[in-house]
This record gives sequence, structure tokens and C-alpha cells, in this order.
Amino acid sequence: MNTRRVLVVGIDGVRFDLLPSLHTPHLDEVAAAGFLGRVEIDAVTPTMSGPCWATVVTGVGVAKHGIWGNRFDGNRLDVFPDFTTRLADEQGLRTLAIGGWTPMFLARDGGPLFTAPSRLAYIAPTADTPEAWEECDESVTAEAAHLLAAGTDLDAGFVYLGAVDETAHFLGCGPEYRSSVETADRRLGDLLAALRRRPARATESWTVIVVTDHGHRDEGGHGGRSEVVRTAWIAACGPDIPPGTVPADLRHADVAAHVYSALGIAPDPHWSLDGTPFTPAVTRPPVHCAGGATGGKL
Ligand SMILES: [Zn+2]
Repeated sequence: MNTRRVLVVGIDGVRFDLLPSLHTPHLDEVAAAGFLGRVEIDAVTPTMSGPCWATVVTGVGVAKHGIWGNRFDGNRLDVFPDFTTRLADEQGLRTLAIGGWTPMFLARDGGPLFTAPSRLAYIAPTADTPEAWEECDESVTAEAAHLLAAGTDLDAGFVYLGAVDETAHFLGCGPEYRSSVETADRRLGDLLAALRRRPARATESWTVIVVTDHGHRDEGGHGGRSEVVRTAWIAACGPDIPPGTVPADLRHADVAAHVYSALGIAPDPHWSLDGTPFTPAVTRPPVHCAGGATGGKL
């Protein structure tokens, strides 16, 4: 008897075109067990963190969730909540949201994006600098890994890592940026290792989704419509995801839709999700995406 669970790791501002030249073994493992695919941010969505992350976690576009920038005032999250809130509120599941970007987690700047998960952790960066954000992400990762490895009862979680984006804004997409992406990948590895250490791992069937919100210009910065900025990506593996097939027409809103599908939950039509699961929900033998009895690499 497998218990379905989902971990979503959001890494802010990671360029798709640079990934092949970077050392990201843990992202590569997720991709090899499932897929890594390009996401084009649609024409009505500003290529900014607020609107893109809101679409990722709600499964609906800007016209519905109402988050158009990095202030979240006037949002409609009461009608279109994030998946950690909806699953906790309506399905009685245990959910986690953790990270260091204020409007995602606190009632500031029109937030929070994560309204009412069953467990919420905000860890503030000590300064608005790349170094402070690396420390913040390190603490976020350690806390999330501790919760996961301890066997905390969690059905779905979202872990936010922000240092890569901060580095690009301060220093552009040069060596420091590349190093920051590789560090984020090491943190992804820490989270995957924590899943493997869960006491009840053998009875759990995890879907892992890794996603970025937008790209960055070479000199750092985003918000326009250039290809490098409007290009994001999703990588995922799990029991419903056949290895090696990149879904056609991947969209940010598909992440939340796949979370529901991976947990075996059929969306209520009233949720009016704009996304669809990466693959149609079908029954397959369990695949141990994050390292299980099959002895897979992950
Ligand atoms: Zn961003």
C-alpha cells in the first residue's frame, strides 16, 4: 500500500539555456527519472516572481489569482488558493510551505501567497544581499530536510529557494550566478536525501517537481518579454510520469494541477484550474522517484 505524496521545490530565476553547462546532478536525476521541459510564460503574465509563482502554486493564471507584480494587494487567493492551503482546508491533508521571500509567507506587501497550509515556516534573510540569501536558503533547506527526514506527516510541500535570483539581480548571470545555481542543486540534493531517509519511505510514493519562475538577462533583471526572460522550466518525476517523455505545452499552472492529480484528487470544476496534469492520471505500478526499494539512483 503506497501513500502518495508530493514535494515541489521552487528555485527563483534559473535560466533554462544555462542548465546544460552547469553541474546540477540532482536536477539531472529528477529529469532522468521523469522529464525536464521548457515553459513559456504566457503573454498576459508579467515575467516577475509574484505572478509566476502565484500561477505555479494556484494552478490558475493572473486573470484569476489577480497577482500582477511583487505586491500582492488585490489578490483573489480567497477564491483561488495555493495547493498547500486548499489541500489542508478542503482535503484534510498535511501540507508545508517554507521559504524566505516575505510576500509568499507573511501578511506583508499584500501577502501571504500561502494563506493557510497546515505548517508554515518563514526564515528571513538577514539582509538584501546574495550572501544573506544563500544563508537563508541554507536554513530553509536544513529545516525542510529535517522535517522530511524526521518522518513528519506531510502529504504535499513547497520549498522556496531565492538566492539564485538575488545573485542575478546584484551580479548578473556570470560566475557567481552559475555557482549559485549549482548550490541550489546541492540543496535540492539535500531535500531528496531527506526523502530517502524517511522512516516510512518504503510505503510512500513521492512525486518531486522542481520549477523556476522566469529567466534573467545576462546583466541580471527580468520583467520584459525577451526569450531568455520569458523562458522558465519544470522538471518532475513520480509514479504518474513516464521517464523520458517531456509533456507537450508545459505551463506553470500545470504544477498545481499535477499536485492534485498525483495525490489522486480530481479537481472540482469550481476550482476552474487553468493547468492540467503533466500526464493523464492512470494507474501504474509505483515508481520510487526519490529513491526507494527499487534501488533507483534517486
Ligand atoms: Zn523570480
